[in-house]
Amino acid sequence: MVDLILRGGTVATMDEQRRVIEDGAVAVDGPEIVAVGETDAVVGDYDADRVVDTSGQLVMPGLINTHVHVPDILYRGRGKARGLHDWLFNVKHPFVAAMDAEDHAVAAELYCRETLRAGVTTFVENAGGLGNGYDAETIRRKLSAYDDAGVRNVYAHGFLDQGGEAAFGSYIETLRRKEPGVDHASDPPMETDAALAAVEELIEQYHGTAEGRQSVWPGPFLAWGVSREGLAGAYALAEKYDVMTTTHTAESSVQERHLASSVEYLESAGYLGDRTLLGHCVQVSQSDIRRLAATDTKVAHNIATNCSLATGVAPVSAMDAAGVTVGLGTDNIAHNDTANLIADMRVAALVHKVDDRDPGRLPAERVVEMATIDAARAIGHADSLGSLEAGKLADIVMLDLDYPHLTPYTDVASLLVYQATGSEVSTVLCNGDVVIENGECQGLGDRPDPVSIQERSESLVERSGLNQLVR
Ligand code: FE
Repeated sequence: MVDLILRGGTVATMDEQRRVIEDGAVAVDGPEIVAVGETDAVVGDYDADRVVDTSGQLVMPGLINTHVHVPDILYRGRGKARGLHDWLFNVKHPFVAAMDAEDHAVAAELYCRETLRAGVTTFVENAGGLGNGYDAETIRRKLSAYDDAGVRNVYAHGFLDQGGEAAFGSYIETLRRKEPGVDHASDPPMETDAALAAVEELIEQYHGTAEGRQSVWPGPFLAWGVSREGLAGAYALAEKYDVMTTTHTAESSVQERHLASSVEYLESAGYLGDRTLLGHCVQVSQSDIRRLAATDTKVAHNIATNCSLATGVAPVSAMDAAGVTVGLGTDNIAHNDTANLIADMRVAALVHKVDDRDPGRLPAERVVEMATIDAARAIGHADSLGSLEAGKLADIVMLDLDYPHLTPYTDVASLLVYQATGSEVSTVLCNGDVVIENGECQGLGDRPDPVSIQERSESLVERSGLNQLVR
């Protein structure tokens, strides 16, 4: 006897053979998938407490978002049309610095409602409004919201332990002078040992909680703001606790480190390796890519924000050719402006074609891999997530296929990448539990009044001075 059988749907397994089973079934017991196959076979082999007819639905693995900043959801769209550091120091930092624990909890809930509803069951949060991670009460409120929502999350606790090079500092000061009206905020860099101790304490406290759905990683925030010792210490903590570590790398063409590329700097610190996930890697050279491949370092590719901030298009074709594992990420929601990975899959497929002037680049199947099985690999969970296979965790998404824009379709990958919008998601399981049913988040109760969220956002805009933005 198993808990649940989903029967009769089109099952896109994303297994080794990338099987798509037309009248397929998935049997789930507790948090795990116990069988995937033809409906007749699965139903013949197992009895279930609950059998759900999924005919007319696409059944697929939960999507994995490898890079996101959650609080940015509360100022979607504000202060755009500016470059990365102008936005970071004149828009993001003032706003997030004005947020209290309650604001963070509201952002976390809104984020979960949106992202689960779009089929994302796991996300990696690069946590740190100003670079250093959040305070204890904010972390408690955020993680408790994720737990209630039933999502699987990685909290990568950020830190900065040195201010970067002098030239970079004066560049930031020049940018700040352009927006004198906002409440510029900055976190002083931490002592390296204290930063690492804070991460370790959080790992001890939260890693593996929420029935194993919550993970904590060290997240040295940016290549230009963390010392070699800080980076090496983060990697050592990842090894000690059998987790991964992540940082932002080469997001824009602004030189982060002189005399070395960002990737070379990370390598010199001993930070490259199979436990490292690098956000962006937009401005990387062929030799940087060889270093990533040789060390099995993973990349989180954030196509939508790279487009919005006009930082460039990451050389994913070259990464693919070199054998670098690449997962998709939505990055900050202020610039994206959604937490909807299905929407970003379409952007990725189209932008890489035009960037390479090659319609054969990044076929739909490849993009789906980057949001599922390769994303699982990128976060160190290829053995438990990213595909529908017996023995893996039951993170399962169902999309209703009964829409004019989905009719007809040629293959599941093209359907997902080019036709679906994400709003077709009807039901979502995470860890074997139903977390989205009839489009609503089961763990978070009734949706808050949208007016209350709009008012909260506008009040933060006023308090942070973002209503004084000149440009
Ligand atoms: Fe980021």
